[in-house]
Amino acid sequence: MRQLAMVMDLNKCLGCQTCTAACKTQWTNRFGREYMYWNNVETQPGKGYPKGYMDYKAGWDEKGNLRKGELPRIPEDYGIPWEYNYKELMSGGAKTLKQDAETSWGANWDEDEGDGEYPNSYFFYLPRICNHCTKPACLSACPNKAIHKRKEDGIVLVDLKRCKGVKDCISACPYKKVYFNPSRARAEKGIPGQSEKCIFCFPRIEKGLPPACAKQCVGRIRHVGYLDDKEGHVYKLVKKWGVALPLKPDFGTIPNVYYVPPLGPPKFNKRGEVTDETRIPIEFLKKLFGDGVEGALKVLKAEMDKKSNEGKSELMDILIAYKHSEMFKI
Ligand code: SF4
Ligand code: SF4
Ligand code: SF4
Repeated sequence: MRQLAMVMDLNKCLGCQTCTAACKTQWTNRFGREYMYWNNVETQPGKGYPKGYMDYKAGWDEKGNLRKGELPRIPEDYGIPWEYNYKELMSGGAKTLKQDAETSWGANWDEDEGDGEYPNSYFFYLPRICNHCTKPACLSACPNKAIHKRKEDGIVLVDLKRCKGVKDCISACPYKKVYFNPSRARAEKGIPGQSEKCIFCFPRIEKGLPPACAKQCVGRIRHVGYLDDKEGHVYKLVKKWGVALPLKPDFGTIPNVYYVPPLGPPKFNKRGEVTDETRIPIEFLKKLFGDGVEGALKVLKAEMDKKSNEGKSELMDILIAYKHSEMFKI
Protein backbone atom coordinates (compact mmCIF):
# COMPACT_ATOMS: atom_id res chain seq x y z
CA MET A 1 0.00 0.00 0.00
CA ARG A 2 1.33 3.45 -0.91
CA GLN A 3 0.53 6.70 0.82
CA LEU A 4 0.21 10.11 -0.77
CA ALA A 5 0.96 12.92 1.66
CA MET A 6 1.09 16.70 1.81
CA VAL A 7 3.62 18.87 3.64
CA MET A 8 2.68 22.49 4.42
CA ASP A 9 5.35 25.01 5.43
CA LEU A 10 3.72 27.25 8.05
CA ASN A 11 6.54 29.79 7.76
CA LYS A 12 5.21 30.77 4.34
CA CYS A 13 1.40 30.73 4.66
CA LEU A 14 -0.10 34.18 3.98
CA GLY A 15 -3.62 33.36 5.15
CA CYS A 16 -4.86 34.49 1.73
CA GLN A 17 -7.48 31.69 1.51
CA THR A 18 -6.79 31.08 -2.20
CA CYS A 19 -6.59 27.37 -1.36
CA THR A 20 -9.99 27.57 0.36
CA ALA A 21 -11.51 29.26 -2.70
CA ALA A 22 -9.86 26.72 -5.04
CA CYS A 23 -11.45 23.81 -3.18
CA LYS A 24 -14.79 25.57 -2.71
CA THR A 25 -15.22 26.43 -6.37
CA GLN A 26 -14.06 23.01 -7.52
CA TRP A 27 -15.94 20.72 -5.11
CA THR A 28 -18.31 22.35 -2.58
CA ASN A 29 -20.10 25.28 -4.19
CA ARG A 30 -23.39 23.43 -4.49
CA PHE A 31 -26.52 23.44 -2.34
CA GLY A 32 -26.15 21.84 1.12
CA ARG A 33 -22.43 22.54 1.26
CA GLU A 34 -22.54 26.18 2.36
CA TYR A 35 -20.70 25.62 5.65
CA MET A 36 -18.33 22.96 4.26
CA TYR A 37 -14.69 23.90 4.06
CA TRP A 38 -12.83 20.77 2.98
CA ASN A 39 -9.87 23.16 3.00
CA ASN A 40 -9.92 25.84 5.70
CA VAL A 41 -7.22 28.17 6.94
CA GLU A 42 -7.51 29.14 10.60
CA THR A 43 -5.51 31.46 12.83
CA GLN A 44 -3.55 29.92 15.71
CA PRO A 45 -3.72 30.37 18.63
CA GLY A 46 -7.45 30.26 17.99
CA LYS A 47 -10.52 28.05 18.28
CA GLY A 48 -10.46 26.87 14.66
CA TYR A 49 -13.25 25.54 12.49
CA PRO A 50 -15.60 24.16 13.66
CA LYS A 51 -15.15 26.04 16.93
CA GLY A 52 -13.03 24.17 19.47
CA TYR A 53 -12.63 21.03 17.33
CA MET A 54 -9.42 20.05 19.14
CA ASP A 55 -11.33 19.62 22.42
CA TYR A 56 -13.87 17.04 21.24
CA LYS A 57 -11.97 13.99 22.58
CA ALA A 58 -12.41 11.98 19.39
CA GLY A 59 -9.96 9.73 17.50
CA TRP A 60 -8.17 6.92 19.40
CA ASP A 61 -7.32 6.81 23.11
CA GLU A 62 -3.92 5.77 24.55
CA LYS A 63 -5.06 2.11 24.70
CA GLY A 64 -6.08 2.09 21.05
CA ASN A 65 -9.83 2.28 21.65
CA LEU A 66 -11.97 4.37 19.33
CA ARG A 67 -13.46 7.42 21.04
CA LYS A 68 -16.96 8.31 19.90
CA GLY A 69 -16.43 12.07 20.04
CA GLU A 70 -19.26 14.52 19.54
CA LEU A 71 -21.03 16.32 16.72
CA PRO A 72 -20.33 20.01 16.16
CA ARG A 73 -23.51 22.09 16.22
CA ILE A 74 -25.06 24.41 13.66
CA PRO A 75 -25.02 27.36 14.20
CA GLU A 76 -22.98 27.44 17.47
CA ASP A 77 -19.83 25.71 16.20
CA TYR A 78 -20.00 26.22 12.44
CA GLY A 79 -21.86 29.52 12.35
CA ILE A 80 -24.32 30.46 9.62
CA PRO A 81 -22.94 31.22 6.15
CA TRP A 82 -23.84 34.82 5.36
CA GLU A 83 -24.05 37.00 2.30
CA TYR A 84 -23.16 40.70 2.33
CA ASN A 85 -25.62 43.33 1.26
CA TYR A 86 -23.05 45.23 -0.81
CA LYS A 87 -25.27 48.24 -1.54
CA GLU A 88 -25.73 48.95 2.19
CA LEU A 89 -22.12 48.09 2.93
CA MET A 90 -20.84 50.65 0.42
CA SER A 91 -23.22 53.40 1.51
CA GLY A 92 -22.70 52.92 5.26
CA GLY A 93 -26.23 51.54 5.74
CA ALA A 94 -27.24 49.55 8.79
CA LYS A 95 -28.28 46.23 7.22
CA THR A 96 -24.97 44.99 5.84
CA LEU A 97 -25.90 41.28 5.84
CA LYS A 98 -28.62 39.87 3.58
CA GLN A 99 -30.10 37.52 6.17
CA ASP A 100 -31.68 38.50 9.47
CA ALA A 101 -30.19 35.73 11.63
CA GLU A 102 -27.34 36.73 13.92
CA THR A 103 -24.15 34.80 13.39
CA SER A 104 -21.43 34.37 15.98
CA TRP A 105 -18.95 32.01 14.36
CA GLY A 106 -17.54 31.04 10.98
CA ALA A 107 -14.39 29.79 9.27
CA ASN A 108 -11.43 31.90 10.53
CA TRP A 109 -13.80 34.03 12.64
CA ASP A 110 -10.94 34.79 15.07
CA GLU A 111 -8.67 35.90 12.21
CA ASP A 112 -5.36 37.47 13.30
CA GLU A 113 -6.40 37.72 16.98
CA GLY A 114 -3.58 35.48 18.15
CA ASP A 115 -2.10 35.78 21.61
CA GLY A 116 0.68 37.48 23.61
CA GLU A 117 1.21 41.04 24.86
CA TYR A 118 2.20 43.89 22.56
CA PRO A 119 4.92 44.24 21.24
CA ASN A 120 5.39 40.47 21.53
CA SER A 121 1.99 39.41 20.22
CA TYR A 122 1.97 36.56 17.72
CA PHE A 123 -0.17 34.38 15.49
CA PHE A 124 0.27 32.12 12.47
CA TYR A 125 -2.01 30.51 9.93
CA LEU A 126 -2.86 26.82 9.97
CA PRO A 127 -4.33 25.47 6.72
CA ARG A 128 -6.21 22.20 7.17
CA ILE A 129 -7.58 19.49 4.90
CA CYS A 130 -8.54 15.87 5.69
CA ASN A 131 -5.35 14.10 6.79
CA HIS A 132 -6.13 10.88 4.87
CA CYS A 133 -5.02 9.15 8.04
CA THR A 134 -3.31 5.77 8.24
CA LYS A 135 -5.72 4.82 11.08
CA PRO A 136 -8.81 6.81 10.06
CA ALA A 137 -11.24 7.12 12.96
CA CYS A 138 -13.99 8.07 10.48
CA LEU A 139 -13.59 4.74 8.67
CA SER A 140 -13.62 2.63 11.84
CA ALA A 141 -16.66 4.46 13.25
CA CYS A 142 -18.90 3.95 10.21
CA PRO A 143 -21.43 1.13 10.87
CA ASN A 144 -22.24 0.90 7.15
CA LYS A 145 -18.68 0.39 5.88
CA ALA A 146 -19.19 3.44 3.69
CA ILE A 147 -15.65 4.80 4.13
CA HIS A 148 -12.61 3.16 2.55
CA LYS A 149 -8.91 3.87 2.14
CA ARG A 150 -7.51 3.29 -1.34
CA LYS A 151 -4.59 0.87 -1.58
CA GLU A 152 -2.83 2.68 -4.42
CA ASP A 153 -2.50 6.07 -2.67
CA GLY A 154 -4.11 5.89 0.80
CA ILE A 155 -6.80 8.45 -0.07
CA VAL A 156 -9.80 8.12 2.30
CA LEU A 157 -13.19 8.36 0.56
CA VAL A 158 -16.89 8.19 1.46
CA ASP A 159 -18.92 5.84 -0.75
CA LEU A 160 -22.19 7.70 -1.26
CA LYS A 161 -23.92 4.50 -2.41
CA ARG A 162 -23.44 3.10 1.12
CA CYS A 163 -23.63 6.22 3.34
CA LYS A 164 -26.89 6.33 5.33
CA GLY A 165 -26.19 9.63 7.06
CA VAL A 166 -25.68 8.32 10.62
CA LYS A 167 -22.89 10.90 11.20
CA ASP A 168 -20.70 8.60 13.36
CA CYS A 169 -17.73 9.48 11.10
CA ILE A 170 -18.23 13.17 11.90
CA SER A 171 -18.24 12.52 15.65
CA ALA A 172 -15.21 10.22 15.54
CA CYS A 173 -12.93 12.38 13.35
CA PRO A 174 -10.86 14.43 15.81
CA TYR A 175 -10.05 16.97 13.10
CA LYS A 176 -13.75 17.39 12.21
CA LYS A 177 -12.99 17.03 8.53
CA VAL A 178 -16.18 15.19 7.58
CA TYR A 179 -19.25 17.36 6.95
CA PHE A 180 -22.95 16.55 6.71
CA ASN A 181 -24.90 17.44 3.60
CA PRO A 182 -28.67 17.56 4.39
CA SER A 183 -29.54 18.24 0.76
CA ARG A 184 -28.64 14.61 -0.02
CA ALA A 185 -31.60 13.34 2.07
CA ARG A 186 -33.60 10.42 0.65
CA ALA A 187 -36.91 10.17 2.54
CA GLU A 188 -37.95 6.88 0.93
CA LYS A 189 -34.88 5.18 2.42
CA GLY A 190 -34.90 7.09 5.73
CA ILE A 191 -31.61 8.80 4.88
CA PRO A 192 -31.48 12.30 6.47
CA GLY A 193 -28.50 13.41 4.35
CA GLN A 194 -24.99 12.17 3.67
CA SER A 195 -21.42 12.74 4.80
CA GLU A 196 -18.90 14.41 2.51
CA LYS A 197 -15.21 15.20 2.87
CA CYS A 198 -11.98 16.17 1.10
CA ILE A 199 -11.21 13.67 -1.65
CA PHE A 200 -7.55 14.73 -2.04
CA CYS A 201 -8.67 15.71 -5.55
CA PHE A 202 -8.37 12.06 -6.64
CA PRO A 203 -9.67 12.72 -10.18
CA ARG A 204 -6.76 15.16 -10.61
CA ILE A 205 -4.28 12.78 -8.93
CA GLU A 206 -5.28 10.04 -11.39
CA LYS A 207 -4.30 12.39 -14.22
CA GLY A 208 -0.95 13.21 -12.58
CA LEU A 209 -2.10 16.65 -11.43
CA PRO A 210 -1.66 18.07 -7.90
CA PRO A 211 -4.71 18.81 -5.69
CA ALA A 212 -6.37 22.14 -6.52
CA CYS A 213 -5.55 23.67 -3.10
CA ALA A 214 -1.84 22.87 -3.56
CA LYS A 215 -1.65 23.95 -7.20
CA GLN A 216 -3.29 27.32 -6.47
CA CYS A 217 -1.31 28.04 -3.27
CA VAL A 218 0.03 31.56 -3.59
CA GLY A 219 2.69 31.15 -0.89
CA ARG A 220 4.04 27.88 -2.39
CA ILE A 221 3.76 26.22 0.98
CA ARG A 222 2.38 22.82 -0.15
CA HIS A 223 4.49 19.87 -1.26
CA VAL A 224 2.70 16.74 -2.47
CA GLY A 225 4.12 13.26 -3.06
CA TYR A 226 4.39 9.67 -1.88
CA LEU A 227 5.87 9.03 1.55
CA ASP A 228 8.09 6.22 0.20
CA ASP A 229 9.51 8.20 -2.76
CA LYS A 230 13.04 8.91 -1.57
CA GLU A 231 13.65 11.50 -4.29
CA GLY A 232 10.51 13.50 -3.46
CA HIS A 233 10.19 16.60 -1.26
CA VAL A 234 7.66 14.89 1.02
CA TYR A 235 10.03 12.03 1.90
CA LYS A 236 12.92 14.44 2.40
CA LEU A 237 10.99 16.83 4.66
CA VAL A 238 9.25 14.15 6.74
CA LYS A 239 11.77 11.30 6.91
CA LYS A 240 15.21 12.60 5.92
CA TRP A 241 15.24 16.01 7.61
CA GLY A 242 12.48 15.36 10.17
CA VAL A 243 11.20 18.94 9.98
CA ALA A 244 7.61 18.13 8.97
CA LEU A 245 5.27 16.93 11.73
CA PRO A 246 1.62 15.88 11.92
CA LEU A 247 -0.99 18.01 13.69
CA LYS A 248 -2.10 16.60 17.07
CA PRO A 249 -0.34 13.22 16.85
CA ASP A 250 -1.97 12.42 20.23
CA PHE A 251 -5.30 11.92 18.41
CA GLY A 252 -3.83 8.59 17.28
CA THR A 253 -5.07 8.56 13.68
CA ILE A 254 -1.55 8.86 12.14
CA PRO A 255 -2.23 11.81 9.82
CA ASN A 256 -0.63 12.07 6.38
CA VAL A 257 -0.64 15.86 6.24
CA TYR A 258 2.51 17.27 7.82
CA TYR A 259 3.53 20.76 8.89
CA VAL A 260 6.86 22.54 8.96
CA PRO A 261 6.39 24.42 12.27
CA PRO A 262 6.60 28.23 12.41
CA LEU A 263 9.84 29.74 13.71
CA GLY A 264 7.92 32.87 14.63
CA PRO A 265 9.16 36.46 14.86
CA PRO A 266 11.80 37.36 17.49
CA LYS A 267 10.82 38.84 20.86
CA PHE A 268 11.61 42.44 21.84
CA ASN A 269 13.12 43.04 25.28
CA LYS A 270 12.06 45.87 27.61
CA ARG A 271 14.41 48.29 25.87
CA GLY A 272 12.75 47.53 22.55
CA GLU A 273 15.75 45.55 21.26
CA VAL A 274 15.36 42.40 19.20
CA THR A 275 16.35 39.21 21.09
CA ASP A 276 17.16 35.63 20.00
CA GLU A 277 14.00 34.33 21.67
CA THR A 278 10.96 33.46 19.55
CA ARG A 279 7.54 34.92 20.40
CA ILE A 280 5.62 31.66 19.95
CA PRO A 281 5.81 29.65 23.21
CA ILE A 282 7.38 26.24 22.59
CA GLU A 283 4.78 24.61 24.88
CA PHE A 284 2.02 25.82 22.59
CA LEU A 285 3.78 24.36 19.54
CA LYS A 286 4.32 21.06 21.40
CA LYS A 287 0.60 20.91 22.12
CA LEU A 288 -0.08 21.16 18.39
CA PHE A 289 2.77 19.16 16.86
CA GLY A 290 4.15 16.96 19.65
CA ASP A 291 7.55 16.86 21.33
CA GLY A 292 9.44 16.58 18.03
CA VAL A 293 8.79 20.24 17.32
CA GLU A 294 11.78 21.47 19.32
CA GLY A 295 14.23 19.36 17.28
CA ALA A 296 12.54 20.37 14.01
CA LEU A 297 12.90 24.08 14.84
CA LYS A 298 16.59 23.61 15.70
CA VAL A 299 17.25 21.94 12.34
CA LEU A 300 15.36 24.69 10.51
CA LYS A 301 17.29 27.43 12.26
CA ALA A 302 20.66 25.75 11.66
CA GLU A 303 19.92 25.23 7.95
CA MET A 304 18.67 28.83 7.61
CA ASP A 305 21.96 30.07 9.05
CA LYS A 306 23.89 27.72 6.75
CA LYS A 307 22.03 29.03 3.71
CA SER A 308 22.74 32.65 4.77
CA ASN A 309 26.41 32.04 5.49
CA GLU A 310 27.43 29.46 2.88
CA GLY A 311 24.65 29.88 0.32
CA LYS A 312 23.93 26.14 0.33
CA SER A 313 21.32 24.00 2.05
CA GLU A 314 19.30 21.21 0.45
CA LEU A 315 16.57 21.72 3.05
CA MET A 316 16.25 25.47 2.47
CA ASP A 317 16.27 25.00 -1.32
CA ILE A 318 13.34 22.59 -0.99
CA LEU A 319 11.42 24.97 1.30
CA ILE A 320 12.12 28.06 -0.81
CA ALA A 321 10.48 26.17 -3.71
CA TYR A 322 12.16 27.97 -6.60
CA LYS A 323 10.01 26.05 -9.09
CA HIS A 324 6.38 25.42 -8.23
CA SER A 325 6.20 22.33 -10.45
CA GLU A 326 8.99 20.64 -8.45
CA MET A 327 6.80 20.69 -5.34
CA PHE A 328 4.58 17.95 -6.75
CA LYS A 329 5.72 14.38 -7.46
CA ILE A 330 2.61 12.33 -8.09
FE1 SF4 B 1 -10.97 10.48 8.58
FE2 SF4 B 1 -10.71 12.71 9.93
FE3 SF4 B 1 -8.53 11.27 9.35
FE4 SF4 B 1 -9.82 12.57 7.42
S1 SF4 B 1 -8.79 13.51 9.15
S2 SF4 B 1 -9.10 10.41 7.35
S3 SF4 B 1 -11.92 12.44 8.05
S4 SF4 B 1 -10.21 10.66 10.68
FE1 SF4 C 1 -10.19 20.28 -1.58
FE2 SF4 C 1 -8.72 18.74 -3.19
FE3 SF4 C 1 -7.54 20.25 -1.32
FE4 SF4 C 1 -9.00 18.15 -0.58
S1 SF4 C 1 -7.10 18.09 -1.74
S2 SF4 C 1 -9.03 20.19 0.35
S3 SF4 C 1 -10.60 18.13 -2.15
S4 SF4 C 1 -8.72 20.98 -3.12
FE1 SF4 D 1 -1.75 29.74 2.88
FE2 SF4 D 1 -1.31 28.91 0.38
FE3 SF4 D 1 -3.75 28.81 1.38
FE4 SF4 D 1 -2.68 31.21 0.80
S1 SF4 D 1 -3.18 29.59 -0.67
S2 SF4 D 1 -3.80 30.63 2.68
S3 SF4 D 1 -0.55 30.79 1.31
S4 SF4 D 1 -1.99 27.64 2.11
